Amino acid sequence: MNAIPSDLRGKLDEVMKRVGRAAAKSGRKPSDITVVAVTKTVPADRIREAIALGITDVGENRVQELCEKYDIIGGGCRWHLIGHLQTNKVKYVIDKVSMIHSADSLELLSEIQKRAAKGDRIVETLLQVNVSGEESKFGISPADVPDFLRKAAAFKNIKVKGLMTIAPLVDDPEEVRGIFRGLHKIFIDIKKENIDNIDMAYLSMGMSGDFEVAIEEGANIIRIGSAIFGGR
Ligand SMILES: *Cc1c(COP(=O)(O)O)cnc(C)c1O
Repeated sequence: MNAIPSDLRGKLDEVMKRVGRAAAKSGRKPSDITVVAVTKTVPADRIREAIALGITDVGENRVQELCEKYDIIGGGCRWHLIGHLQTNKVKYVIDKVSMIHSADSLELLSEIQKRAAKGDRIVETLLQVNVSGEESKFGISPADVPDFLRKAAAFKNIKVKGLMTIAPLVDDPEEVRGIFRGLHKIFIDIKKENIDNIDMAYLSMGMSGDFEVAIEEGANIIRIGSAIFGGR
């Protein structure tokens, strides 16, 4: 179908090599790190191609785009919602997504709970934390994480599986190492608390410009768009 030779394989190989090196630096295996291919603005054909090349996890930041592509591609990969989720849109994605990375309010969790219970499902979510404190970013503040999680634990059809953050855009990823380290510390502290129904398994941090630093600081899910699919 696609007559133009694709550079996707080369780009993916390169990303996986870099993931492997960063994982080794932090004493882990490449297979410990899940690469979510971020497909916003990427047409369904290219996503299919990426899946054929081994991508298992796909991330979209907008509900409508996720639903449109899900209708074309289907459930042969794991779909992640990585962008802000409005309460009134939960119903559209609840039966499509494997994980919601952007849980950031109890109102949202309670709507997810309601819809998940209706469908008799358990929905995996990450709590989005605004580590940098930038006003433009969604997410709860680091100090509020423990209390929020204790409340989140009450939702029986939601499994909180970890934390997510988006670091500020910078030229040199070293500038955001402290942000990743900070979230990793919260992750470890929460783990030690052993809150009932909270399973601190995943730390979703790192994008095309900073994923190696994120992995070195403990990320085990990275969200990669442009390094795989090119500029948007
Ligand atoms: C777009 C996006 C990414 C991927 O960004 P790249 O810089 O293209 O890798 C990761 N996470 C979120 C939440 C995004 O919206």
